[in-house]
Amino acid sequence: MEKHFKNIEVILPPPAFHMVGDGFRVHNFFPSQPKIGMEGMSPFFLMDYGSKWTVPPSDIPKGVGVHPHRGFETVTIAYHGKVAHHDSAGNSGVIGEGDVQWMTAGAGVLHKEYHEKEFSKKGGVFQMVQLWVNLPAKHKMTPAKYQAIENKDMARFLPDDGKSVVEIIAGEYKGLKGPAFTFSPVNMFNAKLIQGAKADFSFNKNFNTGMLVIEGEVKINNSKTASENYFILFGHDGEDIIIEALKDSVILILSGEPINEPIASYGPFVMNTETEIKQAYDDYYNGKFGYLED
Ligand code: MN
Repeated sequence: MEKHFKNIEVILPPPAFHMVGDGFRVHNFFPSQPKIGMEGMSPFFLMDYGSKWTVPPSDIPKGVGVHPHRGFETVTIAYHGKVAHHDSAGNSGVIGEGDVQWMTAGAGVLHKEYHEKEFSKKGGVFQMVQLWVNLPAKHKMTPAKYQAIENKDMARFLPDDGKSVVEIIAGEYKGLKGPAFTFSPVNMFNAKLIQGAKADFSFNKNFNTGMLVIEGEVKINNSKTASENYFILFGHDGEDIIIEALKDSVILILSGEPINEPIASYGPFVMNTETEIKQAYDDYYNGKFGYLED
């Protein structure tokens, strides 16, 4: 069948990094970059990318202390290093290399995120992505929950070369379904391609679609090249994408149906109206998000 390539809107270099707490050195591709903003990758509202850096050894794990969230989901993907996590719903766990933690904040949760203790003691290379996946208005106040998605739980598509793999975290690829439960249509894959390998994708025209080059270098749609740490934002002209690995590469692929609803966002809350943001702060200060020890 003839391909109708999705047009490439822009290929963005990583913006200057900032620290989240004292442990996460991140580049925010959205919503802070005006070419994407709050809507350009909806239902994905935020992407903090911790590009590869070497964390010095520390007996006290670095990270970010107790804080609330409401109205969306946080999805943390660990590529190098390990993240420990605790929340006020009593969940805790370690996100190991290659694993994903999918936390639905929904009506509200308190959590804290740190480098895992043993990793922190030794130090080492750290690389991660945190996404905020927005929730449709009717699901914003869903009870908080937690999906620990270990690498072995992901569906796997194996291209013909025998060495590449496409891991399906959420959504569907080549008839294989990812393990994540989502509240709106979301596709999230890791394509791990050896040099010379190609992978093709097809997403609904009106879905917002982007890719982050975690490692290596890729050629997109036989035309443009994107290097490590660059983000590719696609337009809405076609459905198809072909990526070719110019080096051994890892690419995070995101595509989802836009949530076309008003967004009111402040700090750790993503709601539909200013009134709901104010309510979130009131509820937080009144202890309605529960309790979590620092
Ligand atoms: Mn958080």
